[in-house]
Amino acid sequence: MLGLMMDYPLTIPSILEHGARIFPGKEIISYLPDKTRHQYTFLDLYKRSKKLMHALRYKFGVKKGDMVGTFAWNHYQHLELYFAIPGAGAVCHTINIRLSSSQTEFIINNAEDRYVFVDATLVSLLEPIASLLPTVEAYIILNAAKDFSTSLSNCIHYEDLISDCPDDSAWVEVSEHDASAMCFTSGTTGLPKGVLYSHRSVCLHSIMASLPNYVCISSSNKMLLIVPQFHVMAWGFPFAAVLCGAALVLPSSLLQPEALIKMIIDEKVDKAAGVPTIWQGIYACLKKNGHSSLPLKELLVGGASMPASLIENYQKDFGIKALHAWGMTETSPVASVSRLQPEHDALSEYEKINRRALQGQQLPFVELRIVMEDGVVAAWDGKSVGEIQVRGAWVIGDYFKTNNRESFSEDGWFKTGDVGVIDKEGYLQITDRAKDLIKSGGEWISSVALEVTIMAHAKVKEAAVIAIPDEIWTERPLAVVVLNEEKDLLSPEEIKNFLATSFAKYQIPDKFIFRQEIPKTSVGKFDKKRMRQLYTEGKL
Ligand code: ADP
Repeated sequence: MLGLMMDYPLTIPSILEHGARIFPGKEIISYLPDKTRHQYTFLDLYKRSKKLMHALRYKFGVKKGDMVGTFAWNHYQHLELYFAIPGAGAVCHTINIRLSSSQTEFIINNAEDRYVFVDATLVSLLEPIASLLPTVEAYIILNAAKDFSTSLSNCIHYEDLISDCPDDSAWVEVSEHDASAMCFTSGTTGLPKGVLYSHRSVCLHSIMASLPNYVCISSSNKMLLIVPQFHVMAWGFPFAAVLCGAALVLPSSLLQPEALIKMIIDEKVDKAAGVPTIWQGIYACLKKNGHSSLPLKELLVGGASMPASLIENYQKDFGIKALHAWGMTETSPVASVSRLQPEHDALSEYEKINRRALQGQQLPFVELRIVMEDGVVAAWDGKSVGEIQVRGAWVIGDYFKTNNRESFSEDGWFKTGDVGVIDKEGYLQITDRAKDLIKSGGEWISSVALEVTIMAHAKVKEAAVIAIPDEIWTERPLAVVVLNEEKDLLSPEEIKNFLATSFAKYQIPDKFIFRQEIPKTSVGKFDKKRMRQLYTEGKL
């Protein structure tokens, strides 16, 4: 027998309808690329998104299922695109501005974007490839200065596009299962692949991630989104914030630690989201400039492992709680968050920090499992290491235009390519990416475990560990280390001694390379593929 409740669709326009109706005066603050500050409200966002949606439909003839690309920083116009494109029944395809031009070309052609909305400061990245993008009918320029010029043909200024449009047209009716947005994986381990979200998956992700046990977002918060809107939709937080009535601060290209700290102080930001390298930079800057307190209460970190030492430093020096989350483009992205439970109150500070440094507990309607090398599903015992597989209401079921069934188990779970363990309390710990694990003399060594421990050394700023070929052991770990200060001297022997308390002898790298910086991917993660290549070419 079927239930007798309404079949009310979960759609992105409904998120904005709710946000603007219940929190009309809530503010959205944008620091634009020209360093000016812009402020408006949820109601303004609503009205301008409606105007833009009208322009898309009636000026451009955008139809249901069309792809519309964005190539932009974090700011209010990008937010309007997040709502107006799905509101027109089309797909908001956020393009990563930091990919190589050949990857950008591939992505736009693969998506078949009809229009691309691009920040004036970023047009130079599209100009060289524009002739290779046959599906793009026009470029819409955001934040153009008076003297702006470009070689892109068919350009329209954003404000000119929407200025004469009404702000009360109806949203296009969609099913909650229709496509709403698309992100490509950043290609850390291969060619970028499209992940096509539905309206329903975005809504459910926004609700669940905002729950108190997870990111805990409410109308009491003011959130700074450092994580780019062009990377996994700023982890879905623009939608979650509008749904829950949290004020937003959007930094566009002002991503230097000094600028971000000033925003946190001036705007009284109490929650912020970014990758570990951002938090590492902000911490170093806070210490250098002698700051003693910040309005920030919680920082959300994910995308790569946040070392326990950095979590501890933020807590100890500034009383800021780091919330560690795990996920992927393929999981929308938030799949687990490491928040402590009341029973952890009795733990020592050291134990609490170490637990918070885990990747955390699965969200409701997401399931994690560990599958061992022999295909057996492991118990949650904190010991059995294997591949992490995931399924859930906002987890990928298939890649866009790519028949990639090897990424899925026979019973339909998504194979993440991450390796880890889950303990009795359900806390996930990522030990590595399968492709980055080091197999030495038949034993596995976790590159991540070595990195986070080396980074706990007071003189170390960053450390990345890769496998290098070895005639006797097949592979051995090699550590690439960046010191805090150039004048800091640290010998390989000192690092080995530092590691000896936590690692077996065979796990400790024999070789260390000291560099000024570690190669990073487009989204700020250690680029181990590139590091292995540089090593092979003798250039590391
Ligand atoms: P890419 O695959 O291009 O790096 P994603 O942004 O989708 O793009 O990255 C997902 C991957 O990032 C995960 O599979 C995992 O390896 C890593 N990751 C995400 N969050 C964490 C975390 N908290 N700790 C360790 N690794 C993480």
